Formats: sequence, C-alpha cells, structure tokens
Amino acid sequence: MPPKQSSFHEDEAKLIVPLRPALQNYSWGIRGLDARVARYALETGIIDEVDPDAPYAELWIGTHPKGPSSLLNGDSLESKVGAPLPFLFKVLSCGKTLSIQAHPDKSLAVKLHQNDPTHYGDDNHKPEMAIALTPFEAMCGFRRIEEISALLRKHPEFSACISNEAKLAVFMCKDEASRRDALQMLFASFMSCPTETSKTQLAALLKRLQNEQSTLHPHPHEEPPWERKCSRAVLRLSQQFPGDAGAMAPFFLNYLLIAPGESFFMAPNEPHAYVAGEILECMACSDNVVRAGLTPKFKDVQNLVDMLSYTMGGPNIDAGAPAYGDERIMRYTPPVPEFEVMLATCNPGEELTLPSLKVPAIFIVIEGSGTTDNEEGQRLIMRPGRTYYIPPNASPLFISVNNSKHGSLKIALAHENLHSEKPTLVTREKSHTHPGEFSNGV
Ligand SMILES: [Zn+2]
Repeated sequence: MPPKQSSFHEDEAKLIVPLRPALQNYSWGIRGLDARVARYALETGIIDEVDPDAPYAELWIGTHPKGPSSLLNGDSLESKVGAPLPFLFKVLSCGKTLSIQAHPDKSLAVKLHQNDPTHYGDDNHKPEMAIALTPFEAMCGFRRIEEISALLRKHPEFSACISNEAKLAVFMCKDEASRRDALQMLFASFMSCPTETSKTQLAALLKRLQNEQSTLHPHPHEEPPWERKCSRAVLRLSQQFPGDAGAMAPFFLNYLLIAPGESFFMAPNEPHAYVAGEILECMACSDNVVRAGLTPKFKDVQNLVDMLSYTMGGPNIDAGAPAYGDERIMRYTPPVPEFEVMLATCNPGEELTLPSLKVPAIFIVIEGSGTTDNEEGQRLIMRPGRTYYIPPNASPLFISVNNSKHGSLKIALAHENLHSEKPTLVTREKSHTHPGEFSNGV
C-alpha cells in the first residue's frame, strides 16, 4: 500500500517508506506457513504464495549486498538512505540446528577476507544479538570447565574423542589462565579427532543414551536436570545430523532455552549455534561466519580453534530496559556502536509515541494490528510482517490500537546504537553463572 503523497516536496524526505526485505531459503528454516518468515514475506509481497514443503529461514532488512531490501518501486533501500546502513536486521525461523559457528573480530575478518575471499565475503566483524519471539533453544559460549570435566567423567564415549593430554589439563587446571589453555586443548583435540573414532564413539554414545532414556531401562541413579537436558540435546542434534560428531557439542557448549522477549549477545569469537525457535537478530552489517560442524557448508576448523576467546560460562540473558521511561518501549542495547533494537508494544485502546530520531531506522511489525500517524499526515496500517524505513529527523510516530482488537501491536525497530554508554547486553566476562546449572536456571 503506497503512502499518501505529500504535496510539499521538502516533506517527502520525512515520509515513512514501505520496504520489501530479502528472503533467504536456507535448508534449516521452518517449513510453510508455520514459519513467520513465510507469513511476513507474503505480507510484504516478496512472494505470491507459500510452499508448504519449502523452508523459510531468514528475512533480511538492510543494505547488505547479499540480500538488500528494496522500496516498492524497486529502488534499493541504500539509494534512499544515501549510504549503507551499519547494521543488518533479521527475522529467523529455525526449524533445525544451524551450524556451530563464530564470527571473527575486525582484524581477523580483514585477514580472512584477504586470504580467502570466496569463503569470507566481507572484511567486517559481526557482533550479533538474538531476541526470542518464541521459546528459543540455542548453544552459546563454552561451559564452565567444572561442567565439562563432570561430563568427561560421565560419558566415556566423549572422553574417548579427547586426547589424554587435554583431559589431564582439564582435570588439573587451577587458575583462569590454565582453565583457558585446558579448554582450548580440549576443543582442538575434539575437533581434530579422527572421523572413524568420533563416528564409532558417537554411535556407542547414542545407543547408551537411548537405552538410559527409555522407560524400559530407567536410569539407575539420580542425575541432575542439567546433565539430563544435556544428554537429550545430544540425542536431538544427532537425529538432525546423523553421524556428525558435532552432536556432542552440548558436552562443551552452554545449552539455553530463552523465553519470548529475552535476548543474549554474541561477542566476536564466541562459539554458538541456534537450535530451534524464532528470533529477531541484529548484527553489524556483515555475513562472515567461521563454521565447525553440524553443517553441510564449508568448515574451517583450524581458524575456529585459533580465533575463539575461550571465555567460560553461559551468556547474560537480558530482557531489555525501558527506553524512554515507558515500559512499553524496551531497548536492547549491545556494547557495540553499530546497532540497537527497540521493542514497542501498544495495547488495545491505547496510544504510544515513537519519538523522532536523528538517525535512519527500520521497523517491522511482529504481531497484532493498528495504525500509525505522523505530522506529515501519513497514515499507515500496521499488520504482521509489514516493514518500513524511517528517515532521520522524521516527525514522531503516533501508534494507536483500536479498543476492539484482541491483541497488542508489537513493533521491532532497529537503528545505530544511541545508548552505547548504557548497554543492557554485556559480554560474558562481566556476567556470572551458577555452578553446575544452565545459565538461566532452566
Ligand atoms: Zn552467528
């Protein structure tokens, strides 16, 4: 639906512009209309129909050359903004685990791009954050060494994939430095384990775990919930990627379940893998990924082992902070300058104002319906999936939701970081976890 045109040419620069995001059909996407990516793509007109058998993985909103957003007339968003946006905003529908990966920091990104431009398409770093739209499962960051040590003792098949030298280092480490060294040795040893060994051990492990999980053979001794969840995660990953030793990743990576509205931040050089659920993702404008397992794509184990920061413990889980003293607009602010996300919720019978911003912004309607008005006399109908560009210094946006509506209108807005001195999302060095437990207590 085209916006109402203003008769004054100078006002044109303040109008909000409907966008068409770019669709990525990666194989791990949720299939058919169950994927909000598919429903949103249909609403914005980038597809005419939804194939119930096809995966719909990601919507990209931004100016990245691999998936640039466009205006309704076909012009690029970048031509409208006048420059590339420093961030990339995405909606993800994950039906199946994404590869175990990490993103290089700025200096490594430059080096990788120079040496191997085919696999490393750009030279930018890619700090990223995820905000859950549904209950969301993911692996993020290394477990505490005490947990890994307990899991090595408990699962002889995992232990058989690790060198004696690395195991000794894990069992003996005492201080911060020796813990990091031990963790790096363990990870390098696991990643370089000969395929025949890891395949045989994985098969034996799965057989034993299946037996222990079945009701016919109740588990002989009480095991803590986090250990039981870890075993279940291994079984689940192995079904998705048969024969891939990456299914043992929950033995050394934190396994999280986060609720809608909760988020976590992945600093450069942090290993992570999304498992299932739907999220908003925002990142510095980049597509650089170093992969190590659970993927049919290009893997680069050596670079991954060398680059990781080997910080331990689960990530900080953050539910945002009120952006303008109103809990209906929550900000999710990472410790990087490129981006920040706002989630605005307008309840039926209420009105909400999004203040004017000095920087370019993009937003997507996540749920519900309603209208927006501005001082330019532009009225827009909000529906899930509709996506817009707000030019810098546009007038405030007045959101309203009719009393007769059943649910709230939820809008997700992204722009460069305007609160970088007050991050809500911190890196793991500043966070703490509870010993022997999943980081958020699930
Ligand atoms: Zn990632």
